[in-house]
Amino acid sequence: MSGIFVVLEEREGRVSRISWEALAAGQLLATQSGEPLTAIVMGASTQQLANEAAAKSVSKVIRVEHPLLARYTSDGYTVALQQMIQKLAPPQVVVFPHTYQVRDFAPALAARMNEVLISDVVAIDNGPVFTRQLLQGRLAGNYRHQGSGPCFISVQAGAFRVEEPGTTSNAAEIAAFTPNIQPAQIRTKPGEPFRGSAQTVDLGSAPLIVSVGRGIKEADNLPIVQELAAALGAELAASRPICDNGWLPMERQVGSSGQTVSPKLYLAVGISGAIQHLVGMKGSQCIVAINKDPDAPIFEVADYGIVGDLFEVVPALTEAVKAAK
Ligand SMILES: Cc1cc2nc3c(=O)[nH]c(=O)nc-3n(C[C@H](O)[C@H](O)[C@H](O)COP(=O)(O)OP(=O)(O)OC[C@H]3O[C@@H](n4cnc5c(N)ncnc54)[C@H](O)[C@@H]3O)c2cc1C
Repeated sequence: MSGIFVVLEEREGRVSRISWEALAAGQLLATQSGEPLTAIVMGASTQQLANEAAAKSVSKVIRVEHPLLARYTSDGYTVALQQMIQKLAPPQVVVFPHTYQVRDFAPALAARMNEVLISDVVAIDNGPVFTRQLLQGRLAGNYRHQGSGPCFISVQAGAFRVEEPGTTSNAAEIAAFTPNIQPAQIRTKPGEPFRGSAQTVDLGSAPLIVSVGRGIKEADNLPIVQELAAALGAELAASRPICDNGWLPMERQVGSSGQTVSPKLYLAVGISGAIQHLVGMKGSQCIVAINKDPDAPIFEVADYGIVGDLFEVVPALTEAVKAAK
């Protein structure tokens, strides 16, 4: 077995952001092992995706193309990838982004090859040793691959920085692989692809974010964080309970079922730091947390922590920001 494969996913005709994060994880593995890195794109017509991938620091791009891959199906993807892995020199590691689609088919692909999927990887050490979070992030588990086939992993959103996939001026070689898929092998009928509602707030590109959690207690208290956000020139975001309660619109939710953000500054106010929230913001360059509980998990990812009552700390911070301007 040789080489590292990264299977990229498409979103509205372009390689998705979390796929670039998976590629960054693949580049880390390739650097650690000295193995070549191959990006895989899949579909009925993949030229555009292949060109995007070939411009990154990869040794090769493989277009896995077939008319029956025009729409995603678990069977189609499983059959196509299994054939490709078995026909070409099998890779040491196959990396996927941890998306709903990957959760749907990658465990089946791994099982067909007598392997398991090490899912939701948040860090990779030499070895390679893959780290996953357990018990809502309270424990970290380290995993080594011991099977005789390729090691299959999926990487969690936000765990590997999207800036990391280096680009190159020389486009990588692009090869094609045509799997042999029969219509009868596809047991599901794909529906219309899911499309998220149009978002008017793009938290993903905001450089400064003030994010508020249940510590704010009630909607009437929101103006104190809105004032801080205004003083900093920051976007306002929230944890899920705030949006579930309708105190702020859903499009301002950060986390696994909200937006993934990576601002220069993420100021978390009264947010405990549940894993579903952390996956959406831990790629931020600087995290500041205000929480009255010194043991709140948010402090584990915070660069700066203020243990205190947000109703005292936030107004004081707003005044300090205004005074500094
Ligand atoms: C499938 C699924 C998907 C999910 N998706 C998301 C998601 O996308 N985003 C998300 O955020 N959550 C998500 N969740 C919910 C998540 O598990 C947590 O419940 C949620 O993040 C908790 O929000 P919180 O931190 O605001 O509230 P809490 O956990 O209640 O924390 C409130 C914090 O405020 C602090 N606090 C209280 N009073 C004060 C005060 N006066 N001053 C300072 N600090 C104070 C407390 O110490 C506490 O740490 C999801 C859950 C599931 C099951």
